[in-house]
Amino acid sequence: MTKLCVPMMVDSLDQALAAAARAAELGADLVEYRIDQFADDAEQVASLVAQSPLPCIVTCRPAWEGGHYDGDEQQRISMIEHVGMASHAPAYFDVELAAYSSSKNLRQKVNLVVDHEKQVRSVQAGLILSSHDFTQRPADLSKKVRAMAEEAACRVIKVAWRARSLRDNLEAFEIIESRYKPTIALCMGEEGLMSRVLAKKFGAVLTFVALEDGAGTAPGQPTVDEIKKLYRWDSINAATRVYGVIGHPVSHSMSPAIHNAGFDAADFNGVYLPLPIAPSYEAFKATVGSMLEHKSLHFRGASVTIPHKENLLRFVKEMGGTIDPLAETIGAANTLVVDDDGSLAALNTDYDGALDAVCDSLDITREGFKGMQVAVIGAGGAARAIVAGFAHYGANVTIYNRTQSKAKDLADDVANRENMPVSAAPLDDLANADAAVFINCTPIGMHPKVDASPLGDGKLPSSFGPGTVVFDTIYNPIETLLLRQAREAGCLTIAGTAMFTRQGAAQFVRWTGKAAPLDVFERVLLEKLSAKR
Ligand code: NAP
Repeated sequence: MTKLCVPMMVDSLDQALAAAARAAELGADLVEYRIDQFADDAEQVASLVAQSPLPCIVTCRPAWEGGHYDGDEQQRISMIEHVGMASHAPAYFDVELAAYSSSKNLRQKVNLVVDHEKQVRSVQAGLILSSHDFTQRPADLSKKVRAMAEEAACRVIKVAWRARSLRDNLEAFEIIESRYKPTIALCMGEEGLMSRVLAKKFGAVLTFVALEDGAGTAPGQPTVDEIKKLYRWDSINAATRVYGVIGHPVSHSMSPAIHNAGFDAADFNGVYLPLPIAPSYEAFKATVGSMLEHKSLHFRGASVTIPHKENLLRFVKEMGGTIDPLAETIGAANTLVVDDDGSLAALNTDYDGALDAVCDSLDITREGFKGMQVAVIGAGGAARAIVAGFAHYGANVTIYNRTQSKAKDLADDVANRENMPVSAAPLDDLANADAAVFINCTPIGMHPKVDASPLGDGKLPSSFGPGTVVFDTIYNPIETLLLRQAREAGCLTIAGTAMFTRQGAAQFVRWTGKAAPLDVFERVLLEKLSAKR
């Protein structure tokens, strides 16, 4: 079973023991004592190993391999020898392949203190042979893996490198899957998170997790809490289906929190990750294509956000998949669905989220939009999905936008495709709008500029009052100035959170075939938003 290992830089015996006790409390299985700056006193290191509350790895990483040890190599070797010969051996010593292959002395001493076929003495410690590259994928990666595998004393192969794209993770999985020997193959950096979370799916020996934010020993390590609570570590197994949010950037997306909590609530064997892909169609195609080809990854879908919504549509078309007709009208998709047989579908659940938010608050079905006057403020990506959705269900939509020509183009395009009248008006005319539903699709009023409203000087449209719905797609803050103005005028208000959770709910249903736990989505989103404040 893949272990959760908390690495820690050791400053003192007490500090390391306290951190290891905390790691045990949080549910880690193993700790790695990085004694790079604590290697002077071998007696103290032996004492640390003897008192460790969890099985441990002892590592003294030299500066030339990305560590902090810049002392004498002979002293490092003596320390390993001393700790290895002490009455309580660590579970593993981690030694760099480069040092082990080039120093006869190191090899000899290490072989004496680790367990292997040619060892007469019975010892408990295993040898991790390791190689790290903090800048890129090493050109001789496969050669290094084979060299480690061929060393009789090597119990665990460890390779770690800085991922340049998500595709590096797939190579890490291939290395684990080749099963030369028990393996740790990890990618560093934001693009490498997948290799850390899915280490268990592929049967790696362990993954490294930081005790808390900022306490990691390599870039991209999630915390114990994150991997267990956010990324569902305890539920991950070889059959776990993989989903995620594709975009650039995606690190601040709320989608992993809501979807993973949803998988938990629905007892669905899935995990949802941030999937950053560089902003070009070529990068999108190559990365998503590789993830689909790696069958054992069980990549089954993604939410797709800026700048890849148009790329998703193009990709699924090129692959011969199915396109939701409204996504075609909108010209962008936000959801990829991958069926078990590999067939693809692209849909747009942004309009679902908006339509469902209004339906739920008015307690009507989509058929109830027929003939309804809807004022949409903005003519960008969100407006496009919302205008198309409401027009499709028969609403009379008017688009109010700062750049009049963009409003006109959008109105004409949707009117032609949906065969429905859609009109355009200048933003200044908003105060004269006579609509039953107003929807803000601009960022006006979004954090941090919370004192702004698309109503500008504050003159309210004449139809603002009881019975009118005002919906702001912005969800930070939850109540924008526009919503406050509308609430005070007696309108029914809808926050952007309602759209966000419902577009996620529509994705969830398509991926899992189960009802979406909307209450869970709402609770998690509100928690995340209040934590941000
Ligand atoms: P976008 O494509 O950049 O479009 C922005 C629109 O806002 C454009 O029409 C732009 O007018 C207008 N605009 C921007 N700044 C303005 C200003 N200072 N004064 C007047 N008009 C201004 O953005 P988007 O992707 O559609 O996103 C728009 C909003 O939707 C965002 O605030 C986002 O929070 C929200 N959203 C919410 C959800 C959800 O699930 N709740 C989902 C998607 C988007 P011009 O045409 O004149 O430039």
